[in-house]
Amino acid sequence: MLGFIYMDRYYILLVIPAVIFSLYAQFKVKSTFNKYSRISNKKGLTGADIARTILDSNGLYDVRIESVGGELTDHYDPRTKVVRLSQVVYGSSSVAAIGVAAHETGHAIQHSTGYAPLVLRSTLVPIAGIGSNAGVPMAIMGLIFGFDLLVYLGIAAFSVAVLFYLITLPVEFNASSRAIRTLESTAILNYDEVDPARKVLNAAAMTYVASAAVAVANLLRLVLLANRRR
Ligand SMILES: [Zn+2]
Repeated sequence: MLGFIYMDRYYILLVIPAVIFSLYAQFKVKSTFNKYSRISNKKGLTGADIARTILDSNGLYDVRIESVGGELTDHYDPRTKVVRLSQVVYGSSSVAAIGVAAHETGHAIQHSTGYAPLVLRSTLVPIAGIGSNAGVPMAIMGLIFGFDLLVYLGIAAFSVAVLFYLITLPVEFNASSRAIRTLESTAILNYDEVDPARKVLNAAAMTYVASAAVAVANLLRLVLLANRRR
């Protein structure tokens, strides 16, 4: 990065609180996951078992399931049609693992049905990555050196990243609600085992809300700084 932080009151009033909220959300998802990763489901099914069952019951026989390294790295890859589950989810029969596995299959189902927010989100990925990394430094450099075009380009680039974080919200909420509905309707879990799975998914959803809040706070800060100069 630039090696310095351009401190201003908007940074302190907007960005810092959002970052604190984000850190709290990350702590909360880890502690909730850890808590419910100690409770096994009564049928003894693993995350991989559940994912396979849900995918097959939706006719998604061609979607593969793999285990992936790292912590909370679970995701669905639409390019290769693979649900990747972290080791603590793939082979675990905890209610936390079941919730996460069911959530990831939710993304595979979204993909197969052409769920619009997911399609839009996938389209935004390459541009959003650049905007997320370069947008703020560009705008700040523009402000420091009085180069207006750079300020506007930075804000425009970062706006795409903000849009990406916002469109991620319906995608994630929808995958989780699909997961919970499936777990309730298929009797994969006992009735009293669904609630812990829901708590894990709600905590995970909060991290996406927090990421969106950080992005919006950064954008607002840039717009306010740019306005103050005029
Ligand atoms: Zn997800």
